Amino acid sequence: MAEIHLKDIAHAYVPGEYALKSMDHIWQDGSAYALLGPSGCGKTTLLNIISGLLKPSEGQVLFDGKDVTGADTAHRNIAQVFQFPVIYDTMTVRENLAFPLKNRGMAPADINGRVEEVAGLLEISDRLDSRATGLTADAKQIISLGRGLVRTDVNAILFDEPLTVIDPHLKWQIRSKLKDLHRQFSHTMVYVTHDQTEALTFADKVVVMNAGEVLQVGTPEDLFERPAHTFVGYFIGSPGMNFLDVELDGSRAVLGDQSIDLKQAPAKKSGVQLGIRPEFLDFADQGISCQVTSLEDLGRHRIASVSISGQSAKVIVPSGKPVPSENAMLSFDPDHTLLYTDGYLEESLR
Ligand code: ATP
Repeated sequence: MAEIHLKDIAHAYVPGEYALKSMDHIWQDGSAYALLGPSGCGKTTLLNIISGLLKPSEGQVLFDGKDVTGADTAHRNIAQVFQFPVIYDTMTVRENLAFPLKNRGMAPADINGRVEEVAGLLEISDRLDSRATGLTADAKQIISLGRGLVRTDVNAILFDEPLTVIDPHLKWQIRSKLKDLHRQFSHTMVYVTHDQTEALTFADKVVVMNAGEVLQVGTPEDLFERPAHTFVGYFIGSPGMNFLDVELDGSRAVLGDQSIDLKQAPAKKSGVQLGIRPEFLDFADQGISCQVTSLEDLGRHRIASVSISGQSAKVIVPSGKPVPSENAMLSFDPDHTLLYTDGYLEESLR
């Protein structure tokens, strides 16, 4: 395994049009990362730069300090699992799992032990001697995962939306299994997905991207508590974070004819948005006046849509707590009331 440093990396497929804007990040040895963002934001581009399928137009790729920018995937010692199964139909499951090890010249006795171990962890020991042809797409993809996990000598294992073909009810099970396997093997893993649940349950650290830009690298808790950008706040969470346009008056945020006391007074006075998650707004006896425009009951809790001085927001209301039908007031949790200037979290709050 290796520490992977993407040093001042950027990539443009067409000169001047950056699919990946300049970034510098060290991927820690042995950590599990998820690359999360909407379609076309540059996730596969970034993954392919790590694997060596793509040479970045700018910057360097360093594995444990060694420059591998010009090296191909085989020379980087990377295992990859793609969206669709990559297995040999004519071979048995055992032969498929053994293939990457045979290719690396591992002794046959060691190969067998390792194949049995990985098959046991993936719960496919009973089908090791079946031919791969005729297996369902789910089963084939589990073998592809096995082929990615079987080598012990890899610098990193990269997964590009590996659960796309997996039946929804199996997805959760396989994701948890991958997490267990990460704990046992401690490989550096990078997992591409556009699904926040998949990212947050799998990764120690989530890399959130949008429009070719890495907006935040953080733990699931960081992304929830301190989104570095309004996009992160909105993309993570269900519903996403509320953003309200405010004017600043000292350490007060002014919304129409009402104001909210802030814990700090930011330097910039205009173009500022106040960000607060629906979990941290609460109907109270006093606070900011609002109108409740609709109420959605999700069983575990309700989501109230409100209008605050003409701006919309959502409030998560725990079950059993009443929702006022008139003269509603909202309290803003001061520790979770954040400010964003031009989309980015105020520097003093980072
Ligand atoms: P998805 O989730 O849909 O796979 P992604 O986040 O992985 O998307 P990329 O595939 O990295 O995004 O694409 C980023 C941008 O680069 C997109 O605008 C895409 O159209 C463009 N792009 C990707 N590959 C090429 C290529 N070979 N030539 C030109 N443009 C490309």
